[in-house]
Amino acid sequence: MTPTYTLPTGRLFIGGTHRDATDGATYTSINPATEEPIAQIAAAGAEDVDRAVRIARDAFESGRWATMSGAQRGQILARAADLIEQDAGNLAALETAEMGKLYSHSVDGDIPAAAATFRHFAGWADKLSGRTAMLPDFGPQPRFGFTLRQPLGVVGAITPWNNPAVIAAWKSAPALAAGCTVVIKPAEDAALSTLRLAELLAEAGLPDGVFNVVPGLGEVAGAALARHPGLDKISFTGSVEVGKQIGSLAGDNFRKVTLELGGKAPQLVLADADLEQAMPWIAMGNFYHTGQVCAAGTRVLVHESRVDEVVEGLAAVAASSTVGDPFDAASTMGTVVNDRQLERILGYVEAGRREGAKLVAGGNRLGERGFYVEPTVFVGDNDLTIAREEIFGPVATVIPFRDNDEAVRLANDTKYGLNAMIYTQNLSATHRIIPQLRVGTVWVNGWGVPDVSLPWGGRGGSGIGRELGQSGLEAYTEEKTVYLGL
Ligand code: NAD
Repeated sequence: MTPTYTLPTGRLFIGGTHRDATDGATYTSINPATEEPIAQIAAAGAEDVDRAVRIARDAFESGRWATMSGAQRGQILARAADLIEQDAGNLAALETAEMGKLYSHSVDGDIPAAAATFRHFAGWADKLSGRTAMLPDFGPQPRFGFTLRQPLGVVGAITPWNNPAVIAAWKSAPALAAGCTVVIKPAEDAALSTLRLAELLAEAGLPDGVFNVVPGLGEVAGAALARHPGLDKISFTGSVEVGKQIGSLAGDNFRKVTLELGGKAPQLVLADADLEQAMPWIAMGNFYHTGQVCAAGTRVLVHESRVDEVVEGLAAVAASSTVGDPFDAASTMGTVVNDRQLERILGYVEAGRREGAKLVAGGNRLGERGFYVEPTVFVGDNDLTIAREEIFGPVATVIPFRDNDEAVRLANDTKYGLNAMIYTQNLSATHRIIPQLRVGTVWVNGWGVPDVSLPWGGRGGSGIGRELGQSGLEAYTEEKTVYLGL
């Protein structure tokens, strides 16, 4: 049974009020399970983005948020966390209807994680502090030194469709806790939960103009936000291609930037791995959210002595998957987000076949209505296109290795560097391998989603900077050094 949901107004949210786009433009949001329209959403143009940034600037400069006490800001953000929790069923249903993620995963995973993010950063709002230093005298002058942590100012945030509420929270909660104001451009395929979030933040008591939402097309609204000179920081999560452009624009404007980009994570299954324990994680790392996860572990690097067991294990999970209506509690995989993504995934499957990888499970679209695809398992090597490029679909490639040195070399032989997983019972091997992996995060004997209390971010093509935890908060502050002559 489909849970009911209330559509938020699909209009821009600027300065505390809903507006249409200046030129009246809209776009249609499609339900990927039914291929039917679910909402008409205003598409911001450059003029709307400019208005939102100017209003966010006024809100920042007015001090009504930045100079409010940290404790008061924290109270508002904690109230927002409560409201998100109370609205969890609705928010989750909006996300499932818009991008096909299993409702159970949204309502029990994503939305509570978004609330937890607001609660975590609510707790930080009154704990922003600098450092002190007892300095040596400078000539005749004794001195004392300290640093101040101040909010950066106006933050532009651009988010992807795969975890819209969570990633909106990852960016806006620390920015707001630090005292910044925000203009956010959600992905066109999943803007509704962010528009609903704006309503909940307003209800929690956030002053007008502090959190603004400009839904619209990437090349129009996203590009206008990315190049706007009025931002102090841009925080982007999305593809490498768009991330590169945003990084260059930020560089040209001497603007702070956080880039959370793609991944092609290795899962290193060492010779002694406890596969009974590891198999569910390895499979989840490939098939969770139909593989549309930046942290997906789609390069399954397996010691040659264990390849058959891992291939059989993954094929068994693929065979026992129930791919279907994302609102149905019996489904274990929902849809992919849209027709382009479906075609892209099938194109990669074709490339795998063409380049000689051995297909051991899946590989096809399921049905003709809705963007469903089978969980797919290949055996191949690290040079295949399917092992080099981020597919963002449920496509695993098992790659054998001879020894741990080769496993590390293969793991690092990628343009990405977001995360890696190691499965072993050998503590020494674990500790030897962790420092050698060029990634931002390592999971040992498991796979999962990042916890709000620890930093998350990548190296190389996976991005720049860290979100979450104290590092994620400090990324929205400027540290000012003060030398006080006594
Ligand atoms: P995308 O780059 O296509 O879109 C991301 C956002 O950028 C959307 O809001 C889009 O409208 C906007 N955009 C598109 N073109 C733009 C332009 N020219 N200028 C400014 N903005 C523009 O990515 P996507 O398909 O929505 O998301 C999938 C990607 O996101 C994957 O690569 C995935 O790995 C990555 N991702 C990374 C993380 C992480 O934490 N590292 C988390 C989730 C997703």
